[in-house]
Amino acid sequence: MTHINPYYSRLTESFLFYETKQRAAAFEAAHPERRLLRLGIGDVTLPLAPVVVEALHRAVEEQARKESFHGYMPELGKDFMKRAAAANYARRGVELDPEEIFISYGIGDDLGAIGGLFARENRVGVVEPAYPAYVDTNLMAGREIIPIPGTEENGFLPLPGPELRAELVYLCSPNNPTGAAYPASRLQLWVDWANAHGAVLIFDAAYEAFITQADVPHSIYELPGAKRCAIELFSLSKSAGFTGTRLGYTVVPKVLVREGKSLQSLWVRNRTTCTNGVSYLLQRAGEAALSEEGLRQSRANLEVYRENARVLTSVLNSRGVRYFGGENAPYIWFRCPGDPDSWRFFDQLMEKAGIVGTPGAGFGACGEGWFRFSCFGSPEDTAEAAARLMSFL
Ligand code: PLP
Repeated sequence: MTHINPYYSRLTESFLFYETKQRAAAFEAAHPERRLLRLGIGDVTLPLAPVVVEALHRAVEEQARKESFHGYMPELGKDFMKRAAAANYARRGVELDPEEIFISYGIGDDLGAIGGLFARENRVGVVEPAYPAYVDTNLMAGREIIPIPGTEENGFLPLPGPELRAELVYLCSPNNPTGAAYPASRLQLWVDWANAHGAVLIFDAAYEAFITQADVPHSIYELPGAKRCAIELFSLSKSAGFTGTRLGYTVVPKVLVREGKSLQSLWVRNRTTCTNGVSYLLQRAGEAALSEEGLRQSRANLEVYRENARVLTSVLNSRGVRYFGGENAPYIWFRCPGDPDSWRFFDQLMEKAGIVGTPGAGFGACGEGWFRFSCFGSPEDTAEAAARLMSFL
């Protein structure tokens, strides 16, 4: 008899976004006359920048001709894409060796794989509320999870306390779901803690492009000492509309050493075994997205999402609902008005206002009583949702 991974029994029945999708689909089946507005899943709605589309077309043409055809890509990424990623850091004064940058199909894939570098015995601190994959991937690997609760009192930006016993810590700034973003001075306390304790930080920079506040770092490597303790995950999903196109990268600095081993060389060993590289087409698309022109064109889309945030927060302001986010991130995190059970609030909001959001409880126990709206919808749907919300609240 084959033995299955026993740790799957520690997971909740279904992934959060799968559950919200199922509930919305069941509601629609029962009420075909009602139009649901989706402010739930953080999926973009605006198309790729024109320079990205042109790069994709060009790459397809290359693949169509014998003289310019490309077969397997290097497992760690093509040089042009690594250079584009390194240039993205150089703009912020961060020097990276292209060998420290590993091109990926996005953060989701690497979140699933990065745990392969670490022993099961490591305790995993997760700054919560959190993107559920941090917890679930580690539960699957049999690791103990230590929630590090974000609360209204700490502004959803908890710091390491003397009691914290963890060897790996997941941080996301700007945060999904709360939209809270660590200013450099607070993030530095995490870097210093990790270096003092020999811990490793996994820093998720998926929402870096949304930062507007000057003292919020775009990369953890802007902080002194971070290369000795942090792995950074980056994605073009939200910044350049690549959720359905896919491209990202993971940075593992060479000076990140634990138990005498360079994590960068372990990750090279892992990737060269477990992957066969990222599509040439997508790496050309990624290169274009990170060019000056690509970044400029994508910024226009980000402005639309920011305006959506303003539309939604103006309703919350007028109704006196407490919220975080909407400023450095495309999410608004608000206190459930009335009923503090966030799944019950999810059902009420869907049934009465026809709006689908995401219940805070799905992001960790400290998310209970809170609710997340995504600002990635179309301006038309967002305006309609704001009007419905105004009557509902
Ligand atoms: N990390 C965070 C915080 C996210 O919110 C998401 C997607 O919503 C991801 C990672 C996954 O990103 P990707 O599309 O690059 O797999």
